Amino acid sequence: MSATVEPFTAVEIIAAKRDHHEISDAHIDWIVSAYTRGLVADEQMSALLMAILLNGMNAREISRWTNAMINSGERMNWSQLDRKTVDKHSTGGVGDKITLPLAPLVAACGGAVPQLSGRGLGHTGGTLDKLESIPGWRASLSNEEMLKVLQDTGAVICAAGAGLAPADKKLYALRDVTATVEAIPLIASSIMSKKIAEGTSALVLDVKTGSGAFMSDPKKAAELARTMVQLGKDAGVHTRALVTAMDVPLGLTAGNALEVRESVEVLAGGGPADVVELTILLAREMLDAAGIVGKDPEVALQDGSAMDHWRRMIRAQSGDPDAPLPTAREREVITAQASGTITTMDAMKVGVSVWRLGAGRTQQGEKVQAGAGIELHAKPGDYIRAGSPLMTLHTDEPARFARAIEALTGAVTIVEGGTVQRLPLVVEKILG
Ligand code: URA
Repeated sequence: MSATVEPFTAVEIIAAKRDHHEISDAHIDWIVSAYTRGLVADEQMSALLMAILLNGMNAREISRWTNAMINSGERMNWSQLDRKTVDKHSTGGVGDKITLPLAPLVAACGGAVPQLSGRGLGHTGGTLDKLESIPGWRASLSNEEMLKVLQDTGAVICAAGAGLAPADKKLYALRDVTATVEAIPLIASSIMSKKIAEGTSALVLDVKTGSGAFMSDPKKAAELARTMVQLGKDAGVHTRALVTAMDVPLGLTAGNALEVRESVEVLAGGGPADVVELTILLAREMLDAAGIVGKDPEVALQDGSAMDHWRRMIRAQSGDPDAPLPTAREREVITAQASGTITTMDAMKVGVSVWRLGAGRTQQGEKVQAGAGIELHAKPGDYIRAGSPLMTLHTDEPARFARAIEALTGAVTIVEGGTVQRLPLVVEKILG
C-alpha cells in the first residue's frame, strides 16, 4: 500500500508569510484542508497564524482562506423555502440582545431568518445562552428540524452543527490560546465562512465599536466591516454593514434571562429606546438587502405580529413563551455617589461585572447562571441624585458580588451640569 504524498509542506507556507510573500491559492487550499484533517500540527498552524497577524493578507488571500474554510464542511441550502433568506451577524457587545426581537420581527415582515448563533465567551453574552434561560428551549436542531422551524415560523435561532466550517472551529480554538484572535483577515474569514456556509442570500453585519466591543477603535471596526462586506460580495451574498456604538451597554439589562425579558418588552411594543431604534434600523436594512418590500417593522412591533412570530419560534424549539423566566437568588443595589448628569458608562466594565456575576463563562463548556446580570436604572444623559439606585446586580452566589463591584470601579461618571460624551448609534454604514 503506498502512502499519499502531500503536495506541500507547512514549513514552506509559514516561511513565505514570514518573509512577507503572498500565499498562493493552492497553498491556502492545502494548508486549511490539511490542518482540518490533522496533517498539520498545531504548532505549525500557530506559527502561520502569527505570521498572518503580523504581516497581513491581501484581498485575494482573505477570500481564498474564507472559501477554504467553507469547503472544509457542508454548505446549507434553503432553496425549498418560498421566502427570501436574510440574516444578521453582530460582532458582539454588552447587553446586545438585538437578535432576539429582530429575527421574529423580520419573519413577521416576510423574510426567512436562518440564524446560527454562538455561546458567550468572555465579557460579551451569547444568544444561545440567553435563549436557554427560557424553560424547555432547545439550541441543537438537525438540519431537517431547522428547515421545518423556518418553514413554519419564518425564523430559527440555533447552534451551528459540527458539519459547518469545521476548519474554523479548530482554528478559532487555536487562535484563542495563541494571541492571534485580533487579526482582521482571520476575524473576517472566521465570521464570513460560517455566515456564507449557513446559506443565507442576504446578510447585514452589525460591527460594534467602543469600549465594550471586540474592535474598540472605530477605524479598525470599519476596516473589518469593509473586509467582511467584500467577502460576502465575492460569495454572491447581498451584504452590507453598519458600524454601531458599543461604548455604553445596549438597553437597560445585561445577562441572560434579564435580556430575554427586555426583548419581550420590545416585542410587546415597549422597551428601551436604543434597543427599539437599533432593532428597527437593522430590520429595515435586512429587508432592503433581501429585496423584501411591504410591511414596516415599526408597525410589526406595535400590531403584535412580531410577538406572534416570537411565540411560534420559541414553541417550535420546545420552549414555553409563557413560563416565568428564572431569577437570581441574590440582589445588590448600587447607588449614585453624587448628584448630577451621568456622562459616561463604560460598556466593558459593565460587561466584565456581568460576567463575574456568573452570566458568562471563563472556559468553554462551563454552565452559566440564567438569572445573573445587571439591571441599569439610569443611563448616560440621565440626571441622578446621590443615593438613588444606579444599578442592581443579580447572582445566585453572593460571594461573587465583591469582584463584580470591583469591576465597576470608574465605570460611571456623574458630573453636575456635565455633557454626555458618547458615540452616535450608527457610526458608519458600508454598502456592498
Ligand atoms: N467571532 C467569530 O466567529 N470569529 C472571530 O474570529 C471573532 C469573532
